[in-house]
Amino acid sequence: MSTIETITLPNGKTYEQPTGLFINNEFVKSQDGKKFPVENPSTEKQITEVYEAGEADVELAVEAAEAAFDDWGFGDSTHRGRLLNDLADKIEEHAETLASIESLNNGKPLSLARIDVQLSADCIRNYGGWANKIYGDVVDSGSGYFNYIRREPIGVCGQVIPWNFPLLMFAWKIGPALAAGNTIVLKTAESTPLSALYAAKLAQEVGFPAGVLNIVSGYGKTGQYITSHMRIKKIAFTGSTATGRHVMRAAAASNLKKVTLELGGKSPNIVFEDADLDKAVEFANLGIYFNSGEVCCAGSRIYVQEGIYDTFLEKLKARAEKNVVGDPFDENTFQGPQTSRIQLDRILQYIEDGIQGGAKVITGGKRVDREGYFVHPTIFADVTEDMKIVKEEIFGPVVTITKFKNVEDVIKLANDTEYGLAAGIHTNDINKAIHVANKIRAGTIWVNTYNDFHHNVPFGGFNQSGIGRELGKEGIMEAYTQPKSVRIKLDI
Ligand code: NAP
Ligand code: MG
Repeated sequence: MSTIETITLPNGKTYEQPTGLFINNEFVKSQDGKKFPVENPSTEKQITEVYEAGEADVELAVEAAEAAFDDWGFGDSTHRGRLLNDLADKIEEHAETLASIESLNNGKPLSLARIDVQLSADCIRNYGGWANKIYGDVVDSGSGYFNYIRREPIGVCGQVIPWNFPLLMFAWKIGPALAAGNTIVLKTAESTPLSALYAAKLAQEVGFPAGVLNIVSGYGKTGQYITSHMRIKKIAFTGSTATGRHVMRAAAASNLKKVTLELGGKSPNIVFEDADLDKAVEFANLGIYFNSGEVCCAGSRIYVQEGIYDTFLEKLKARAEKNVVGDPFDENTFQGPQTSRIQLDRILQYIEDGIQGGAKVITGGKRVDREGYFVHPTIFADVTEDMKIVKEEIFGPVVTITKFKNVEDVIKLANDTEYGLAAGIHTNDINKAIHVANKIRAGTIWVNTYNDFHHNVPFGGFNQSGIGRELGKEGIMEAYTQPKSVRIKLDI
């Protein structure tokens, strides 16, 4: 059986989807021939099957990545940069197909998938620019010595990515790792393997050397082969805090590979009385309902100052009810389905918990009556801070809203979490904005905006939201290079 399949998109167009594992620059079948089904979450129907990597396949991928490392990591860095730029160009050339694959497999609206594709190209291009600008330092370490510090790649990196932004998380992972000279064994999420495989085909076309990028599709088990592999030198993981713990344990129990983690969140989005109310409503809406709420930094706890609470709630309800929920291929759609049945069930369970606990559903609170994993945008009011729906990451279009009195109150409420990924602050008072921003324990603070990224701005978590940063200088220099100090005793 072949490792390429012709797939017909909902708009009638067809494209060639690689379904093999991508090892040593080839799409190959798994050693044991095993495959798993990939589903369209809008229709609950199977799209295709892709090959599933077992331990032997991960081993082959690691061998290929090891063999490629010396030339890639210590070869011509300008060439590395050029290849990353070429890949970014190719992604742009294939933007509409990639966006369609993303909508088909993840369920996100085509209009938003197009933005993901552009951001993915931007990220890879940005790190392509870094490739030949990674250099070390010479330090004064006493007379009689010459001491220089090199920044070297780490080696074979394992990367495990989630299903909420399949292509963008692929780009965030491979861009900096490859630019710095590492080679990669990457696992996509079981529910969304398609766009990364397509992008791998583009990498093959632009002439990436064999073994530099390897993709092993599979379930959590495949992830474990990576996290516990004795010759993988680093693991970069994005996903749940629970799985993040497994990743760290596996790294510790195997070869103490380096670990960076981008995990969950329960981010506060704070609206002060002096905010521009309509803009704050827009960013509250975007903060929680963007990408069906499947966003690690979703503004899932809204805090509104008491003087505007009633008006804000009314406006947010009206705004949420205007979001078009439906077919991702319809250009008007803002919110598609949740990405999997498991995720749908998880969200419905949280909604049930909220209702049982006495929280009040202001709007939504149920599944959309149609095929596919659609959930109505949901607002819970009358919540208490100890409720599960306020404490735990729901990862769906469900937000809680709480009234607060003053600055000191809301800082306490905002920080009352085990997470610390992001926060939003809406105010027209710059002094208040900076005061609150400095007090909140989170890796990213958005003021008068939300879910607002740039490839130069590092992103990552305080507390249990993660370890390390992606994007920006930190996302490459700290995450994917290691300093080597060379201390030479001179005979002078
Ligand atoms: P998950 O288990 O953390 O999955 C993330 C990735 O890790 C997937 O590729 C997954 O593979 C893989 N994986 C699972 N178990 C593993 C293990 N023991 N060792 C190594 N890799 C492993 O997340 P999930 O179960 O899909 O979703 C659960 C919750 O995680 C969501 O409700 C949400 O709260 C959170 N989440 C957060 C993010 C984020 O961006 N921070 C993204 C996704 C989910 P499989 O897909 O094959 O299981
Ligand atoms: Mg899983």
